[in-house]
Parts: sequence; structure tokens; C-alpha cells
Amino acid sequence: MAQTETPIAPAKPKKPKKPPTLINAFQYRLYPTPTQVAKLEHVLNTHCNLYNDALRDRTAEYALTKKSLTYMDQQGMVPGRIRSGDIGTTRNSMVQTIRRIDAAVNGFVKRVVRWRASGSPEGVELGYPESVDLDDFKSVVWSPGEGAKWMPERQRVRITPDVGEIKAVVHRPHQGTIKTITITRRDRRWFVTLTCDLGAIPQYRAGRMIGIDLGVSKLAATDDGHFVENPRFFEDSAPRLEAAQQVMERRKVIPPKVPNRPEINPATGRKWPRYSENYRDAKTAAANIQRDTANRRRDFIRKAVHGLLETRDGLPDPVGILVLEDLQIKQMIMAVNVKMAKEEKARKEAEANGLPIPMAEPGAGKRPRRGMAKALHDAAMGGVHLALTQLAARLGVRVILVNPANTSQRCSRCGGMPEVPKTLDERKHKCAACGYTADRDTNAARNILALGQEMLRQEEADRPRKEAARLRMEAVLLRKEERELAKGVAGLDTPADPAETDDEDGDHADLSVPLRLTAWPIPDPTVMIPIGNHVVRKERMKQLLLI
Ligand SMILES: [Zn+2]
Repeated sequence: MAQTETPIAPAKPKKPKKPPTLINAFQYRLYPTPTQVAKLEHVLNTHCNLYNDALRDRTAEYALTKKSLTYMDQQGMVPGRIRSGDIGTTRNSMVQTIRRIDAAVNGFVKRVVRWRASGSPEGVELGYPESVDLDDFKSVVWSPGEGAKWMPERQRVRITPDVGEIKAVVHRPHQGTIKTITITRRDRRWFVTLTCDLGAIPQYRAGRMIGIDLGVSKLAATDDGHFVENPRFFEDSAPRLEAAQQVMERRKVIPPKVPNRPEINPATGRKWPRYSENYRDAKTAAANIQRDTANRRRDFIRKAVHGLLETRDGLPDPVGILVLEDLQIKQMIMAVNVKMAKEEKARKEAEANGLPIPMAEPGAGKRPRRGMAKALHDAAMGGVHLALTQLAARLGVRVILVNPANTSQRCSRCGGMPEVPKTLDERKHKCAACGYTADRDTNAARNILALGQEMLRQEEADRPRKEAARLRMEAVLLRKEERELAKGVAGLDTPADPAETDDEDGDHADLSVPLRLTAWPIPDPTVMIPIGNHVVRKERMKQLLLI
């Protein structure tokens, strides 16, 4: 071909695609001095205001122009907000805070997309990011060397300007390259978290394929009849926690405004507290109970998850492919089910009492399963799901997420649906059609496994088509490159490239085939969300850090 003989101009350097890497977080307890605590509080305050202002700007801009500001647009506001003498606040850390809004808004957009993909069910809260109270604004992120430095040999983290070196307890060394340094305040305790890049993710390992159903009464059930029981840590501590929260409520009295009092307390140089010290003590006591329970629970889950993926009955039994429910879809389905159950109950009650049948109001039940029950429920499933996917990423276990619709109802042997749907209290699956009986959750896990196997079959069947599309795309790009090179050599007035009109070798016919490169095809009824070759995404990791 003529084009290949033309002198080659230096090719435009292609942006190399970064292969996904394994990110891990290492957290250490900090012991700042009282002065440092005051300074860190100040840093949080500055960033909280920045976050709320930037979020407000974004919402206002969208309302006005229907276009969303990006963090690239918004980081322009940072230099104007840096005042000389501002403690511990660098341009870099401020940009990181603004970037967090991006993550929050993107999360919202993703939820909307999934919600639409699952048929826009009513009664689902999609949660647009809201402004944050200073009490709830818990962390600030730095890039290493840009206002924060980790000094493990001195057991310190240094925050500049003006905060100084804070004492840390380095109970184990971190691994990999530090990507971000995060300072977090949690119930008056301070932590530093390093997110570290551990390099290339491990290759998928060989092993058996399992399906796992996540639940509440049993945290996890496998397709071969193994269970992880719910240890009920939360439930056991609930009465204590409730008592502590009642004390907290009792003490939550906003002191009366003193007339003509200056806004700043001259004794402390800070704003007058909104609540009393007694209230804050009660809040800490309640938070301590919550934290202890959560720690015990997390520890339990991590060990259990290791058992699921690594051992069985005390023997090594590696898992190669893990099929799980897509939790976001599952929570949507559950929210809708609960709403429908409530409406059904109201209807039955009305019928029994001879009252007019209530109509489902639009927007009613917008926040189903509110409060403690829902929080417990989501925490239970979310915790196990996260622990499983994180461990899987480290071990090289491939994770497949499937749409959990009907997995608890369908019979895993004959595929039949029961005429009367099982209620949540029915713990046994008993198929009227084929007579198959099993534990409810085992049956669900078998359905989940089957969906995962179906997904793999589909992937295998799609492979030739995808490969062909990829080759066609490459051919198009190659031709484009050649044409540009030819243009560069012959000058700008070159007529249309002969390759475009000359069709004698016939292989150009392929190019007219429309390329399907835009949307990820969502196979129904299963939805596979590729989590970047099973890497736990950075955003997810960040969310985790912000808890
Ligand atoms: Zn059956």
C-alpha cells in the first residue's frame, strides 16, 4: 500500500491506558494535642463551608442552565478562598474537597440510571447530595507532599501550614504507593487513612464458582447449603443504645440567646457552643456503643467472608468466580415490595372495616423502611457485600453481579414461580410444581448462581461479535491515521483519499456496518455491572473512608 511507504511523521503519542490497580486503605489512630485539635477543627470548618458553597453553586447553575458544573470548572474558585494565614488548608486539599462533590453527584446520576434501567419504580429515594452540617463533616483529603506528609519512621503525620506534626500509632506498616492522606474525625477521635496503590490487580485465579444470597436473618447463604448466621450484635446492643440516645435527646436543649452577646466567646476565641457539654458527653457515650458494635461486627464479617472464599469445613477450598446480587437493584426492589405490602395491608384493613379503600397516593411511601430497621437491614447486607467484593479483588476472584429480581421466589430446580409469593417470614422453599424443598436462602443462592452461569454463557457467545467490532474499529482508526499522514505529506489540498473511493480489495465493505460502541448492552433479566475487572472502585473506597 502506498501510504505505508510515505515517510512517517512522528506519531502522536497515544495516551497510554492505565491498567486498573489494587487500592487498599490503611488507617491509624492519631493523638493530636489540644491545640492541634482546635486547628484540625478549623480545617474541617473551612472545608465544610467550601463543600456547601460549591454544592450550592452547582445546584444553582443546574437550575439556571440545565448544565452541571464539573470539578474542573469549580476548582477555579479555590484560589480566591485561600487566605493568608489559613491553617492547614492548601489548594490541593480544597480541590480534593470539591472533587468529592463530583463523586457525590456522579453517584446520584448512577442511581438514577439504574433506577430507570429497572423500570423507574415508584417509592425509591435517589438521594441528591445535600449540604453537610459541620458536625457531620468528618474528613479532609490531601495528596502526599501537598500539605500532608506521612512519616512512619517518626510515627507522625505532618499537616502544613501551621498544624504541625501529629502523633500517630503505626500498628502495622502500609504497603504500596501512598495516593491520598485523609484526616478523619469520628466521635472526638482522630484518624489518618492512607489509600495506597498496591500495583496490578491479581489475575483471576482458578477455582469453583459459587452463588451467595445476602440477607438479614442469615447474613449469607451459599448455593451448596452453607450459611453465615447473623451474630445479632446490633440487636443485643440496641437497648443500651436506645437508652443512651434518650439521654442525648433529653440533654439536647439549645441554650437561650443572650441579648447583645458577641458572636465569638472572648474566652475561647470560638463561637458559643450550640449544645451543652453534657449533651456532647451523652452523644459520645451513644457513639461509643455504636462503634464497639460496629467493630465487633466488622471483625466477624471479615472472618466469615474469608471462610466463604478460602476454606470450607476447615479445608482449603478456593473460589474462582463469585456470583452476588446487585445490591442497589435489590434495595430498590425491596423498597417497592415494602410499599406494596403496606398498601395491601391498608386495603385489607379498610375492607374488613367497611371503609372506603384507600388509593395509593402519588409519592406516598417515599421513604419506606425508615429509621433503625432499614439502617440495620442495609448495613447488614452492605457490609457483607463490601467485604466479599474487597476480599475477592485481593484474591483474584472474579465477581459477577446479577439482578436479584425473583431470586428468592423462583424455584431453582424447575424455574417455576409460586402462585402465592413467599412472605418474608417463610424460611422454607417448597415448590408446588416439582416438589423441590430447600432452605429459602439456599434456593435463592442457587438461582443467583444460575444467573451468573447464564451471564458467562452469554459473554462467551458474545465474544466473536465483540472481537469483530473491535477489529473493525481498529481498521477505521488505522485508515483515519493513514489518511491524516497522507494529507500531511501531500499538503492540505489533497483530494479525498483514494482509499475512500477505491473499493477493489473489497475489505472496506465491512466499514459500513454500524458499530455498536455506545451503550453497554444490558442483558435482561440479568444486569452485569463490570466493576473494573472486579476492582473496588476508588470512589467506593472513598465512600468507605468517609463513613
Ligand atoms: Zn420447582
